[in-house]
Amino acid sequence: MKKKKKKYKDYQPNYFLSIPITNKEITKGIKILQNAVIQQDKRLAKAMTGDGSFHVTLLVMQLNDDEVNIGIDALLELKPFIEEILQGKHLTLPFQGVDTFGNQVGFVKLAEGEHMNPLLEIAEVAKRTFQEKGILAGESRSFKPHLTFMKLYKVPWLRKMGVKKIDPKFYEKFISHRFGDEMLHRIDLCSMLKKKQSNGYYHCESSIVIGDGGHQNFGV
Ligand code: AMP
Repeated sequence: MKKKKKKYKDYQPNYFLSIPITNKEITKGIKILQNAVIQQDKRLAKAMTGDGSFHVTLLVMQLNDDEVNIGIDALLELKPFIEEILQGKHLTLPFQGVDTFGNQVGFVKLAEGEHMNPLLEIAEVAKRTFQEKGILAGESRSFKPHLTFMKLYKVPWLRKMGVKKIDPKFYEKFISHRFGDEMLHRIDLCSMLKKKQSNGYYHCESSIVIGDGGHQNFGV
């Protein structure tokens, strides 16, 4: 127990499991949202999530260079568990509305619905699969799926200039906007720190493809 506590004391996630956002309708909508925010305060441009890197984080973890291969194995092991949860159905993730974590992280919300349970189950089995391989993974707070479009804390000088919060009036027109649906078709093991790809997406160590053959749908 003591050992475990010590291990987690220096826990600094540097990798994550990502569900990439590939639906152009969603990314277009987010660009419009980001531009609407920037129109109201130009300085916030620096806090926007870059094109091509929109994603939903399923799990965060800490991997050193020697553990990356264990992470790749864990992701492969995860695939049949996810397919068991989905039972041949597609998982559709509908995005609607905007919120923030503590006025610091702005995100597009995942709407409520029958897609939620399987997604939470997938996040749970992912955490278990990685932890069972000895990887430090997960967070103490509960998983709240979200699609980040801006992070204020990434730009420390904004705070010094008096921009301390994402004002709700910046995104009030989008509060119930429907951004579109993303079908879960891939999960990537990505680095938080390595140089991003030329398309703007994170550096990936490996990926799994989900659901090639199902016909029914979860969610809308
Ligand atoms: P990302 O995972 O790239 O979308 O980044 C989201 C940011 O929001 C990260 O800095 C997380 O630490 C933070 N975050 C994620 N989930 C929560 C939560 N439930 N409460 C507060 N902050 C969160």
